[in-house]
Amino acid sequence: MIDRRNALKLALGSAAALAAPTVWAQTAKPRTKIVFLGTKGGPRVSTGASNPANLVMVNDTPFVIDCGMGVSHQLASAGVPIPSIKYIFISHHHSDHNLEYGNLFYNAWAAGLSTPIHSFGPKGIEAMTTTYWELNKFDVETRIDDEGRPDPRKLLIAKDITEDGVVLQTADVKVTAFRTPHPPIVDNFAYKFETPDGTIVFSSDTAYNPKLAEFAKGADVLVHECMYMAAVDRLVVKTKNGATLKKHLLESHTTTEDVGRIAAAAGIKVLVLSHFVPGDDPLVTDDNWTEDVKKNFSGKIIVAKDLMELKLPV
Ligand SMILES: [Zn+2]
Ligand SMILES: [Zn+2]
Repeated sequence: MIDRRNALKLALGSAAALAAPTVWAQTAKPRTKIVFLGTKGGPRVSTGASNPANLVMVNDTPFVIDCGMGVSHQLASAGVPIPSIKYIFISHHHSDHNLEYGNLFYNAWAAGLSTPIHSFGPKGIEAMTTTYWELNKFDVETRIDDEGRPDPRKLLIAKDITEDGVVLQTADVKVTAFRTPHPPIVDNFAYKFETPDGTIVFSSDTAYNPKLAEFAKGADVLVHECMYMAAVDRLVVKTKNGATLKKHLLESHTTTEDVGRIAAAAGIKVLVLSHFVPGDDPLVTDDNWTEDVKKNFSGKIIVAKDLMELKLPV
C-alpha cells in the first residue's frame, strides 16, 4: 500500500525524471568540453604549436589547466572571454606550465575582470602570486589611480596544494589532485575533473607511473603527456645549451609505449596524447605518436592539436 508520503516521493521522483531530459534538451550546446590550447611540450616558443595549456568548460565556466606561454592568446582564439575565467590550475612549476600564470590573470584584469579568479598549484603558487604584484606594482597602482580600475591584487586568490585530495568542489565539478613524479620535481600534480558529463584526468608531466592508472581508473578521458623516443636525440641536438637534457627527458617523461600501458591499465574510454616531446619536429607524424601506444592500448586515441575541442560525454 502506498501511503501519502510515499505517493509524494513517487510523484517528485517521476517529475524529476521527466524534468531532467527537458532541461538538457533546452541546452543548445554541450555542457562540458575540453579545449587543447597548447600541445607542445617544453619551454621553447616556436611558430607551430603553443606551449602547454588546457581548458575545461562546464556550463560555461572555464577552468584553465596550466599556463604555458601563449595561453592568453589561445583562449582568445578559442573564443573564450578571458575575464570569464574562474579557476586556474598549475600542475607544476616548470616554466612551460606557469610562465604566463600571472600574465593570464593580468590579461583578464586588463580586459575588464571584476570578479575573483581562484588559482591552485603546488607549493610556490602563493609566493609566485605575491611576487607578481611586486614585479608589476608600478603598472597596477598607476592604472588603479589613473583609470579607476579595481585592485587586481584582491581578485587573484592563490592556494598552495601540499597533498593529494579534493582541491575544489563546485555545484558542477569536483577537482582532485594526485602527486606524480617528474624528476627532479616532486611537487607535481595530476588533476581529475569529475563533471556532469564524465571524468577527465590530466596526467601533468610525469615519469612512467603505474599509480597514475589507479588514479585515472574508469575515467572517460585521459589526457596524457608523451615522448617519442626515436626523435629525442634530434631534440637534444636542436637544444644547444642543455648538456644533461637527454638524461632529464628520459627520467621525467613517459614514452608513447608506456602511455599505452597506463591507458590500458586505467581502462579509460578515450586517450588524448598531448604535451608532445618533441612538439615541433616536422619528421614526427601522427602515426608515429600512436604506433607504440597501440602496442598496449586498443581504445580510442586522439593526437591533440592546438584549439582542438573534445565534447563530453564521449
Ligand atoms: Zn612540460
Ligand atoms: Zn615539466
